[in-house]
Amino acid sequence: MTPTDTAFVTDLAARLIAEGADDGDIATVQSQLGRYPRGMVAVGARCVCGNPLAVVTRPMLPGGIPFPTSCYLTGPEVVKAVSHVEAEGHMPEYTDLVEHDADAKAAYERAHEMYLGFRHALATALGDDESHIEGISAGGMPVRVKCLHALVAQSLVMGPGVNLVGDMVLERIRHEFDPAVCRCGRTADDGAATDENREGKTR
Ligand SMILES: [Zn+2]
Repeated sequence: MTPTDTAFVTDLAARLIAEGADDGDIATVQSQLGRYPRGMVAVGARCVCGNPLAVVTRPMLPGGIPFPTSCYLTGPEVVKAVSHVEAEGHMPEYTDLVEHDADAKAAYERAHEMYLGFRHALATALGDDESHIEGISAGGMPVRVKCLHALVAQSLVMGPGVNLVGDMVLERIRHEFDPAVCRCGRTADDGAATDENREGKTR
């Protein structure tokens, strides 16, 4: 990782820890996930309306449970939109890209290192032990594409230009989800059901 990248993830971690999570954010994320967000450090990305889209979680949960997925997607609309991309069978395209395109491969490796650097900064600042998850990032990085939700979460938390696959998925789902366009409450479930109904009728 370059010194610039290290500084970027270290500053980001420090800023999020300083920001923290208030009771309102925790309650919103709990309702998004359907469970209490244990070890939540802060909201890492928000919809333009302020609703959480992704959370940052500490490397070790209370009770000593190692937690590698430092950037976790929570917004129901974005979760659903990303699930559509996975269900449509686009994973092999992304895997093929990071396996065979030299530039994409290097960029994906960098995203992995920045993920680890970010978590290391969290661990250092919070006094969390990372030994159980050393070298493990998320989403299949650095050589495979296994979970687009994890990659999109990194893109939303760290911004564009860090995770190329997450960035590409965000571009692909822009008609359905865009952090700059609030569609909160208009759940993609409704849209999917409508599309299915429509298909059912025309068949
Ligand atoms: Zn919103």
